[in-house]
Amino acid sequence: MFIDTHAHIHQHDPDEISDIIDRAITANVGAIITAGTTVEDSQKAIELAQTHASVFAGVGVHPTDLTHSLTSGDLANLSKFAESPEVIVMSEIGIDHQNRSPDFDWQAESFHAQIEVARSHSLPIVFHIREQGDDYDAHSARDATISILKETNAGELGGTAHYFQGRWDFASQLLDLGFHISFAKTLTRITDLEETARKIPDNRILLETDAYPQTFKKNRAKWTEPRDIPVVAEKLSALRGSSVGDIQNLATSNTLSMLGRRSEIVSAVLDSLATR
Ligand SMILES: [Zn+2]
Repeated sequence: MFIDTHAHIHQHDPDEISDIIDRAITANVGAIITAGTTVEDSQKAIELAQTHASVFAGVGVHPTDLTHSLTSGDLANLSKFAESPEVIVMSEIGIDHQNRSPDFDWQAESFHAQIEVARSHSLPIVFHIREQGDDYDAHSARDATISILKETNAGELGGTAHYFQGRWDFASQLLDLGFHISFAKTLTRITDLEETARKIPDNRILLETDAYPQTFKKNRAKWTEPRDIPVVAEKLSALRGSSVGDIQNLATSNTLSMLGRRSEIVSAVLDSLATR
């Protein structure tokens, strides 16, 4: 089965969540990693993972949700959450320079500090990178990300660049540092991503939806959900000249290898669904 390595399904209306998971399983997506975006939201991600076998949690503060540079109290909370067995990645963390705020120093400090929390629990990191808008001059989010990943030796922890939207030259820098690249439905419309999709080694491909409540889409049926993972796999298989089954096998085994010892609980769920 497929794994959705990055979503935010705990943010959906509680009445909808069981159906979202059922639709995912029907589409052969057997495990979903739901990522917190603030300290409080990380707690909600864990609570959902505690009540649904196919859901696992990430904890972290998203760069655009920062209201200050994370304090030692925030980091202690995240560290405490990371002890929960349902927590299998540090996510969502990262750098976002699309707008002038939150303050770029807060973002850099908080990304750095959260990588250290991940290190103290040997968690892989699932990180966000968004480049600046074109209308003003700012430091590149890519450069900021690469320098923090290098300073913290984060490649030792492993992880992935989630919702990857960069070009091949940036992807290859992340691959050199030891990270995976996670593809989402953007692959079906951003042609600049196709070079990376073709050139990336088999053992670095991951799949995700980044599903969250898309209230800006009036038609509920059009919201992205974990059940859409096969759409991303189909596009990758077309670009790489391989079968969807091959992409599924690669992406699932890559996710499990990224998760290290925490892969066991995920494998157990996939196995139990496969033998239904
Ligand atoms: Zn996300």
